[in-house]
Amino acid sequence: MSVLIVIDAANGSIKKSAFEALSYGADLAAKLGVNAVGLSLGKTKGDLSALGQYGVNKFIQINADQLPSDDPSVLAAMVSEMVSREQSSVVVFSHSLSGKAIAPLVSAKSKAGLVTGVVGLPITENGFVVKRSVFSGKAFAHVRIDSALKLISVNPNSYKVNTGGAAATVESVTLSAAAPRINVIDKQNSTNELLLTEAETVVSAGRGLKGPENWGMIEELAKVMGAATACSRPVADAHWRPHNEHVGQTGIAIAPTLYIAIGISGAIQHLAGVNRSKVIVVINKDPEAPFFKAADYGIVGDAFEVVPALTAAVKKLKGV
Ligand SMILES: Cc1cc2nc3c(=O)[nH]c(=O)nc-3n(C[C@H](O)[C@H](O)[C@H](O)COP(=O)(O)OP(=O)(O)OC[C@H]3O[C@@H](n4cnc5c(N)ncnc54)[C@H](O)[C@@H]3O)c2cc1C
Repeated sequence: MSVLIVIDAANGSIKKSAFEALSYGADLAAKLGVNAVGLSLGKTKGDLSALGQYGVNKFIQINADQLPSDDPSVLAAMVSEMVSREQSSVVVFSHSLSGKAIAPLVSAKSKAGLVTGVVGLPITENGFVVKRSVFSGKAFAHVRIDSALKLISVNPNSYKVNTGGAAATVESVTLSAAAPRINVIDKQNSTNELLLTEAETVVSAGRGLKGPENWGMIEELAKVMGAATACSRPVADAHWRPHNEHVGQTGIAIAPTLYIAIGISGAIQHLAGVNRSKVIVVINKDPEAPFFKAADYGIVGDAFEVVPALTAAVKKLKGV
């Protein structure tokens, strides 16, 4: 028996969300008294045995030649095959773009209960009950999974990353992959150098910036901080910034370690997409702006004075 943990990788690099999922899956496996097995559906660089530090006993890499397209149904079929092979009772995904695409297909194929956006280990004393975040992080629900195979996707930034586990055994597996039904023929990178959903730090700005011509200072601050840029919805609607930067209820939901909100009022629909950030810093000239209520640190001041001063201070600190 095992807990199977499907990890995210991009361009060969394993993502931070994968370390959280591996740690979650390893702790769950220890709780259930079964093996923890990591599974990569993408080519991954580096010493895979070192992933044992997160607590997994074994790590499986699907033969690189077999990794077809980005067709999630092909990848889901591979996960299902690994579930049988590893006799898994639980499969853990990251609640990421790929996890969101693959997990429901595995659920449908295996008739397995799926709970998404999980934020803690299950309570197993009376059934298998997981806690998930609902209403954009405003509340939690406890959900019991009754099927034999249980599927979970773990919210980013909601589980500690383990350290100090022993080296994992690494296996390369060849599967009978189905022919993809869709093929991605072209991918275009967004203007953001960093993927918004992956960034540790996000510098975000709103209508308080007055116009698109003023974004230079936001981009400069983001650059010196190694951050991604984001914006409020009216800013994207007015085409001041591209829509892939729009965060909030109707945009992307993010959970960076540091979120800096500049000239954004803090409407509930904006907060819905950013309130899982670990630390929120608000810069607003209106001391009554609602965002200050959600902030860990606040600066009441004019963005056009504060942001250049902040950029200069970060440059000085970093010696650049
Ligand atoms: C169904 C629905 C869904 C929505 N979804 C989203 C969503 O996903 N994301 C989202 O962001 N919004 C969303 N909205 C819109 C949301 O309600 C707000 O209207 C929006 O977030 C406001 O954007 P803002 O804070 O940039 O602008 P404003 O509300 O205009 O706020 C600008 C802020 O800048 C400050 N300011 C002005 N000048 C300066 C200065 N020089 N220096 C510093 N501060 C300054 C002001 O004090 C003010 O607080 C949604 C609305 C609805 C109805």
